[in-house]
Amino acid sequence: MHCLSTRGGDSAPITLALQRGLALDGGLYLPERVPHFQISDFEGASELPAVATRLLQPFFEDTPLSDQVGAICSEALNFPTPLCALPEPGSYLLELFHGPTAAFKDIGARFLAECLSRLRDPMAADVTVLAATSGDTGSAVAAAFHGRPGFRAAILFPDGRVSPRQAHLLSCFGDNIASYAVQGNFDACQAMVKAAFANAELQAHCPLTSANSISLGRLLPQSAYYAHSALTHWRTHGTALNFVIPTGNLGNGLAALYARMMGLPVGEIVLATNANRVLPDFLDSGRYEPRASLATLANAMDVGAPSNLERLRALFPEHSALRAEVSARSVDDTRIRARIQSFKREQGRVICPHTAVAAEVLADLRRAGDLRDWCIVATAHPAKFESVVEPLIGETIAVPPGMRHWLDRPAQAIALAADSAVLGDSLLRGD
Ligand SMILES: *Cc1c(COP(=O)(O)O)cnc(C)c1O
Repeated sequence: MHCLSTRGGDSAPITLALQRGLALDGGLYLPERVPHFQISDFEGASELPAVATRLLQPFFEDTPLSDQVGAICSEALNFPTPLCALPEPGSYLLELFHGPTAAFKDIGARFLAECLSRLRDPMAADVTVLAATSGDTGSAVAAAFHGRPGFRAAILFPDGRVSPRQAHLLSCFGDNIASYAVQGNFDACQAMVKAAFANAELQAHCPLTSANSISLGRLLPQSAYYAHSALTHWRTHGTALNFVIPTGNLGNGLAALYARMMGLPVGEIVLATNANRVLPDFLDSGRYEPRASLATLANAMDVGAPSNLERLRALFPEHSALRAEVSARSVDDTRIRARIQSFKREQGRVICPHTAVAAEVLADLRRAGDLRDWCIVATAHPAKFESVVEPLIGETIAVPPGMRHWLDRPAQAIALAADSAVLGDSLLRGD
């Protein structure tokens, strides 16, 4: 399938779009059409890799990967994503944190890495995967590309703005992975990445590709767990499943919209943001006002200029049409803290601060009398945010074994000024 830039100045086959990351005109790639499925098309597909294979196959028709989609999905999506019923009737938790770095970003990162590895020309120079991270992207990308021949990864994170365990997971890989602790916020990291991509001279010596949530290779596989959980729910209950999604750069939310556009039984989609209110304000007023990000307890969602909004607006240029598709609500830190405590008490589960944002939004809906079936998307394991969660619940959270493995390695990050020229020099030196 071909992909078109949101800015109209570039189109490319999907495999090239995956390799490039950002479109040549600075826009974001979108598939030229949305394949449409019937529920019966998924008959016999019960596990996530099988659902993902059928869902993603049409995107890869007539590409070098067309007969590898099944293998890519089983390699990349090799951990469970259970849909768990909560004690509260009609409420579910979709646990997306059972991958190697304990956040949902493992899914997109592993899929992208699998695709890029298979597309690599063995004669070509090594490619550097460049990613800015507000917390979890970086470690997922590092884990996905660690030890892969032909790839280096350079991860930029805002120094002091990620949890201690996140910082460790970002900096413990070594080998072909470089981690940069940037003296600035996430927006500064993202701006440095954008400047590097715009720098033709740098790219001539150091070919770059993106693994940020602007990459289609991360977006598409995320649709698969919405398809899978919605189908699972449909098969038992015969109704669509509604989702509340913790949202920062809007990749996860957009993936849910895609699953619904493809004909899967996804019901209403509510985007839950922390105190960074840019999305709810935009949906209310129709005016997009990017701003500096605020630091919150749900730090992987501390985004003042959500990158995937450009895709959302390209898909639904009419504001009224957009508002019919999706809504957004914001929750501040006080409510995040309270929800982590009440969720433990009422639902018997410990959740991370991002998941708590969504849980709090669902609690609002319930208070307003909404009795439909809703799924809270659990985006990270609470053990990754133990410094926030443990004091609130008064107990220690067991670290999952996959995460323990990485935490036991020494960590080393390169301190870097928030200056794209300094980053360019470091990349050229091959730090
Ligand atoms: C990245 C992240 C989010 C936000 O996801 P987007 O796709 O950027 O909207 C939410 N929760 C966690 C734990 C994350 O790592």
